[in-house]
Formats: sequence, C-alpha cells, structure tokens
Amino acid sequence: MLVGVPKEIKNHEYRVGLTPEAAREYCAAGHKVIVEAGAGKGIAKTDYDYRKCGAEIVDTAEEVFARADMIVKVKEPQPNEWVQLREGQILYTYLHLAPDPDQARGLMESGASAVAYETVTAPGGGLPLLAPMSEVAGRLSIEAGGMALRANNGGRGTLMGGVPGVLPAKVVVLGGGVVGTHAARMAVGLGANVEIFDKSLPRLRQLDEMFQGRASTRYSTMSTIEDAVAEADVVVGAVLIPGAAAPHLVTREMLGTMKDRAVLVDVAIDQGGCFETSKPTTHENPTYEVDGIIHYCVANMPGAVPLTSSYALNNATLPFGLALANHGIAACEQDPHLMEGLNVHKGEIVNATVKESLGF
Ligand code: NAD
Repeated sequence: MLVGVPKEIKNHEYRVGLTPEAAREYCAAGHKVIVEAGAGKGIAKTDYDYRKCGAEIVDTAEEVFARADMIVKVKEPQPNEWVQLREGQILYTYLHLAPDPDQARGLMESGASAVAYETVTAPGGGLPLLAPMSEVAGRLSIEAGGMALRANNGGRGTLMGGVPGVLPAKVVVLGGGVVGTHAARMAVGLGANVEIFDKSLPRLRQLDEMFQGRASTRYSTMSTIEDAVAEADVVVGAVLIPGAAAPHLVTREMLGTMKDRAVLVDVAIDQGGCFETSKPTTHENPTYEVDGIIHYCVANMPGAVPLTSSYALNNATLPFGLALANHGIAACEQDPHLMEGLNVHKGEIVNATVKESLGF
C-alpha cells in the first residue's frame, strides 16, 4: 500500500503522523511511504531522516493526498484537506467528530474510510490511542503547575518539593485515571505532598497499591474535595465521565477558601473543564487569574512537547496502522477493536455512538 503523511496544518500543531522510525516499519513490511517535505520539522526530523528510513519526500500535501492509498495524520482534517480525500482512500488520524458535524459531512461526501484514533478500543478496556496523550498531559500538568506557582509567573512562590526544613507543596489530583496517575507520579517524584481523588473504589485500591504510601487516596465527595482544595497549592483536574461534560468539582465559591495565588490546572478542559471558573487557554497565553487563583487550562497540552508526543502516539498507532496497510479496511473486520475506530465508511457514519452524538 502507498502510505502518505502530509504536514499538519492546524494552528500550532507540531506533531507528525509518522516518525521516520515508524515509516521504516511500514517500508520493512513491504509498503511505500511518501512524506510531505518538512513534515517532521516540529519533531526536529529532516527530510533526509525520512529518506534514510526508506520514505520518499514529495513537495506538496496535494501530491500526498492524490497518490496515497492511506493518509496518516495527527489532527482531524481541515476543510481544505477533507475535500482532497477520495472514495476508497483510508484516513487514519484523530477525528473527534461528535462536536464537528461539518467535518463529518465532509468526510461522508469524500467517500473515504476514516478510522479515528480516539474510538479504537483495547481488549482490557480503555482507549489505547488516546492514553498516550493523557500520559503526556498528566505529566505536563505538574510541570505547568510548578511553573505557575512561581512568583514571577503570578503564583504563591512555593517550590514543589520544598527543601529540608520547609514543607513541600500540597498537590490535589481530582480523578485517578490515566492523566491523574501520571500527574501524581510526577508530583511524588518532585517530593510534593500528593492526594488523589476518585469515585471508583477499585481504582483507589489500585492507586493505593501503586503508590505504596507515597501518595494518599481519598474518595471523591463534595466535602472531601472542599477540605483538600482549601489546603492545596496546586489542584489538577483530571476527571472524565465518558460521553459527558466534566462535572464542576471546584465551584467559584470554593476559590474563596483557597490559599492566595494557589494554582488550578484543568486538564479536563477539553471536556468543558472540572472547575466552574475554567475557560480554554493556549500555550501562548496559558494562565489567567480569578479571585486570586491562577488557572492553567490549555486544551492541547501535548502540543507543547511534539517530539515526545509524536513518538508516544506512533508507539500506539503503529500496530493498527500496519494492519490497515497490510489488509486495507478489511483489517477492521478482523479486529473488533479497530472496527470501533471506523467512524466513516462508504458515505455513512458507522460508529453508533458517534452517529448518535451527531444526531445524523
Ligand atoms: P480516565 O478515564 O483514564 O480517568 C478519569 C478518572 O476520573 C476515572 O478514574 C474516573 O473514575 C474519575 N472520575 C469520574 N468522576 C469523578 C469524580 N466526580 N471525582 C473524582 N474522580 C472522578 O481519563 P483520562 O485519560 O485520565 O482523561 C482525563 C481528562 O483529561 C479527559 O477529559 C481527557 O479528555 C483530558 N485530556 C486533556 C488533555 C489536554 O491537553 N488538556 C490531554 C489528554 C487528556
């Protein structure tokens, strides 16, 4: 199969659909890879790096779309990309179609088969192509919180780990899933005093085992959250209720009980945010203040570390991508988890949940 990788064109997207190393795996499996010139710039990879791995470099995205049997990307296609897709072509990327009926219609009209990373499932449950980005965002949330705590950035001037004789920062993590676990690991690693909240008792038991006393676990209720938030230097919002908007676990009223210039990091902002006062921010302007509390609410946190994020994403997407390259869209019939990823096929939305959310 001829696999094509265009340069990402969404604003401030520096990741790339295939790393040179992943391109090499496709070539070794007998496929041909074409890459738009400069596609790897955001991860410090040159056209020569791709050539060394067996890929052909082409000048334009148009050529990639015109020639390739399968397009591998990171972000959902933009309007000028989806019009270039054609019947029988495979698109393999993040789509997030549910809130985006225009893109859904564009893909349906193209006749292409679109496999969405975010709806591919795993035998043990979970979303294996979404998890790597949650790992990245969880780990970044503590770096972001630490930076925002610095006085020169408007924070209260606390060092995460303290020093001998001075207490460390208190970090409260709301939601002990993928984001929350990785946030807690980073905070523990820096020597912070960490509490993790979840509604799931089995999950709290797992976390208790995992952290061996280096982080405390607490059942999430309005009362326990109120107590913890009032004492926190950093609160990380990492809850997810699948298919629903994030619940507002920290209200505006609760900000008044918090330490002056404490920090809220709302990783769940892409689901509306779990603090009442959250609104999406960007890497250019990541924080703002409400009632003396610093808010960090960047909606695409992994975009800040495209090199790590692209490799983490490729590690997860490669096996499914190779299956698609080897067997075409028939690979979905052979793997029920990949079939969950198939969102658009032959002009129809074929994933029932996505279809219901779109109301088509
Ligand atoms: P996950 O499903 O692995 O974990 C969510 C956890 O929240 C679960 O353990 C669940 O039991 C818990 N939870 C649900 N309701 C709760 C409540 N009321 N109190 C406490 N815990 C509760 O999800 P995840 O992969 O960790 O993702 C978390 C959020 O981060 C999602 O909204 C995801 O989209 C978002 N995210 C954002 C970025 C970004 O760049 N901003 C990047 C990756 C993920």
